Amino acid sequence: MRVQRYDVPDINNPGKFIPRYWDPSHTPVLDEQVDISYIIQLANNVTDKILTERALLNSQLEQTDTMEQMKALNEELLLTNVQLRETQQNLYTLNAQLEERVAKRTQELADSYNEQQTLNKELAATNEEHATVNQELTDIQQRLVDTNVELETSSSRLRMAIESTQLGTWDYNPVSGELYWSKECRDIYGIPQELKASFELYAQLLHPGDSQWVLEQIAACIQPDLKGRYDLSYRINRYDSGETRWVKVKGTVYFEEEQATRFIGTVLDITEMKLAQEESAKLAAIIASSDDAIVSKTLDSVITSWNQSAERMFGFTAEEMIGESIYKLIPPDRTDEEPLILSRLKSGQRVEHFETKRLTKDGRQIDVSVSVSPIKDKDGRIIGLSKIARDITERKQDEARKSDFIGMVSHELKTPLTSLNALLQVAELKLKTSEDSFLPGAMQKANVEVKKMTNMINGFLNVSRLESAKILIEKEPFQLEELITEVVDETNLTVGSRQIDFDPCPPVTIKADRDKISSVISNLIGNAVKYSPNGAAIAVKCELIGQNVVFSVKDQGLGIAEADVKKIFDRYYRVQSNHSKHISGFGIGLYLSAEIIDRHDGKIWVESEMKKGSTFYFSLPL
Ligand code: ADP
Repeated sequence: MRVQRYDVPDINNPGKFIPRYWDPSHTPVLDEQVDISYIIQLANNVTDKILTERALLNSQLEQTDTMEQMKALNEELLLTNVQLRETQQNLYTLNAQLEERVAKRTQELADSYNEQQTLNKELAATNEEHATVNQELTDIQQRLVDTNVELETSSSRLRMAIESTQLGTWDYNPVSGELYWSKECRDIYGIPQELKASFELYAQLLHPGDSQWVLEQIAACIQPDLKGRYDLSYRINRYDSGETRWVKVKGTVYFEEEQATRFIGTVLDITEMKLAQEESAKLAAIIASSDDAIVSKTLDSVITSWNQSAERMFGFTAEEMIGESIYKLIPPDRTDEEPLILSRLKSGQRVEHFETKRLTKDGRQIDVSVSVSPIKDKDGRIIGLSKIARDITERKQDEARKSDFIGMVSHELKTPLTSLNALLQVAELKLKTSEDSFLPGAMQKANVEVKKMTNMINGFLNVSRLESAKILIEKEPFQLEELITEVVDETNLTVGSRQIDFDPCPPVTIKADRDKISSVISNLIGNAVKYSPNGAAIAVKCELIGQNVVFSVKDQGLGIAEADVKKIFDRYYRVQSNHSKHISGFGIGLYLSAEIIDRHDGKIWVESEMKKGSTFYFSLPL
């Protein structure tokens, strides 16, 4: 029996039906006779089976379709395969071509890579260069900024300098004839501000003596074939006062196409400088013609000027000596003189007529008298020395001859004088008891005079010995106060009318030349007697001060003027005054005394007041 469709209502969806398939079956039940007693009808729900079968059928159908389609597809695939193979073939070919091209391209790329590398390196180098250039540019920029600042500073400095030096500036246009004068320029020419500047006005100012050549120079200067520079010194007559002044004018001409278009420059009043130049030219002429050697040098003893007389005197030319040390002229045993001179000048003392010896080019030693003055800067600092040296060799030789002569004469006189002295002493003794009242006194006076004469002759002899360096100091120990007492007593004998007080020091032994010290004491006491009025007291003193013994003689005499005090220990120096000119003497006593004390490493000096008296001192080391 056929399967029947019989839909059942869908309980979930009212009104809707669910398809259901039923398979009816009829089964007869037989009785004992084998007849059908009844039939059993059954309806089997075969919906699932049907649906499955249908689905199967459908799927078979679909499969068939698919098969068909597959077949067609297969064919297509085959075709496609053929095409694919062809395409593959083509692809192979293409691939090969591509590979070839890729290889080629790779090579090219490799090449270009190398190039690139090189390029890169070059680029790096260029970059570096750029960086350096950049740095340089930055530096230049900085320098430019600095330079600008400097430029501004220096231009303001220049302005200040121009103002402070009173340097005038001018600007002339030769084409238009226009002329500009700065304030300083107008001040120099004496032209008021309101007066218009013009070349004609300027030309009028030129001094008649200089006008022509100056104008010629200006005309020449603006010619293009000439250098266009202008540097002249000439005279002008000031516009306001007519006063003649010297000016130094400097200028530069600027050209445009062979045409002078601008002429600018400066002007400076050099009148004072010119006068100074003239003055120094005069001085130079005096120095050149002087008979004395005039030399200047630095504090380091380097010679800076050397005149003709110096050339004559020392034999060296200026070229040989300028820049050299002055020590080239100083004998080796006198090298300590230079520092001494300098220290004396520094302490404000003068160094005049300092007698010494100097060496000449040919090795001779000449006697010179040197006066030295300090060269000072505007603040009064000593920056050098100027020396005037006079050749005194001749004079020295004369003096030596004179001294020799005096020495010889004194020596010759001494012998008869000694005999005369001895004879007079004996005669004095013998005549003491004489009845003749005149003779004893006369003998005594003769004795005093002979003593004076002997002292004088001894003095000359000593000077002569001193000059020829033959004076001998023979030191021996002795009691100074004893010696002083002896000299005071002796002087008292000869100058009976005077009162000499002696205030002795405690007994003191010194080591010195007794005779020479005796002559010093005798000379100082003798002078006190000579140069003070009769009856005025004389005080002799001896004191111990520190490590020295100090002897002094105080008188109430004429006194000595300050100017003379410095010179009285010089040889043959005598004070020239109405009072003293009648007092006999040769000016050698103090000179000899000073030399003797000096040779004992002592000191001699005087304190004096005019019309009140003098005190002479000497001190000797113990
Ligand atoms: P002289 O006395 O022989 O001239 P000195 O050398 O002893 O030589 O003295 C030098 C000069 O010093 C003297 O000429 C004199 O003018 C001055 N003089 C020396 N002693 C005194 C004194 N006590 N008072 C004033 N003047 C003096």
